[in-house]
Amino acid sequence: MLIFDAHLDMAWNACEWNRDLELPVSDIRKFERQFENIIPGEATVSWHALRQGGVGMTISTLLPRLHRKDAALTHYQSREAAYGVAMGQLAYYRAMVAKGVLREIPDSSTLASHIAEWEANETAARAEGSTIPIGFILSMEGAPPILSPEQIGDWFDAGLRILGPAHYGPGPYCFGTGSEGGLKEQGPALLKEMDRVGMLLDVTHLADQSFWESLEIFQGPVLASHHNCRSLVNADRQLTDEQIKALIERGAVIGCAFDNWMIKPGWTIGVSDPKTTSVEDIANHTDHICQLAGNAKHCGLGTDLDGGFGKEQTPHDLDTIADLGMFAGILEKRGYSSEDIKGIMSQNFVDFFLKALPES
Ligand SMILES: [Zn+2]
Repeated sequence: MLIFDAHLDMAWNACEWNRDLELPVSDIRKFERQFENIIPGEATVSWHALRQGGVGMTISTLLPRLHRKDAALTHYQSREAAYGVAMGQLAYYRAMVAKGVLREIPDSSTLASHIAEWEANETAARAEGSTIPIGFILSMEGAPPILSPEQIGDWFDAGLRILGPAHYGPGPYCFGTGSEGGLKEQGPALLKEMDRVGMLLDVTHLADQSFWESLEIFQGPVLASHHNCRSLVNADRQLTDEQIKALIERGAVIGCAFDNWMIKPGWTIGVSDPKTTSVEDIANHTDHICQLAGNAKHCGLGTDLDGGFGKEQTPHDLDTIADLGMFAGILEKRGYSSEDIKGIMSQNFVDFFLKALPES
């Protein structure tokens, strides 16, 4: 079964953490064991592992974030530096496309033919050395590199199809996780410009007030790429039931995140034992969203497995992203139909993007 992962920060890992993502995860781990305390956790993701696991379709980000462990909020000191870094990450994706590792999915017709190719040739696509590329829709997490709302058109022309204006802390246009407030002065103009060019809004990381104000102004399709439920894990990083219901009304798909502290209440980064969380626990969030929706059409996967943490912070029974398929078995045990399982593993996001992306 084809898997769609709606949130990975691949270029950030390749460019900022110097990870050779074409290698098996075991080789990346071996290389990184030579160094101490500079690695964002034990790796679980690479292009190699995605292929092995049948993750043929992703949303991959430009992530202009400077990792500083001693800082509560981490970002570049200047917007121009963030812009330069995001352009560099974009160049990495382009190099992977040129090499045949990746296929950029800028429109719905390319998405349809990409999915058809993977589904018709799954065994070949998953095999080592396959010439069938992994698909990615280009997204940006946090908006510091968007130097003004007027620049949105240039970014769209460069391939950017999704923007999550917020990340951790206050951003240039709005407030993000761990901070409070509504849209800033240029926030409405940014959202209107996104609407004008057809760029999609990822609500993940928006502070509550910024979330509600954004939904009022932005009229186009919205998604929540990597987001769990606040009624299960009470923190502002998760969506309230009211937010989930509003997203469902807008036709959004919500990708469940595989970061332990967002999965289980009371799980503390750097303290809790990863053994206390399993992939099964993530299905509680999927169940909750399905209950609120009354169907299984609004759930997907947005693992975030390379989002600045590693094995120490992921469900203990998942070694690498190649194991992601086990989620289908968990859903099956919980009584989901095979159609609903396919929906959650890939089709819900595929259907969303077939409608939301430009035709060609
Ligand atoms: Zn994130």
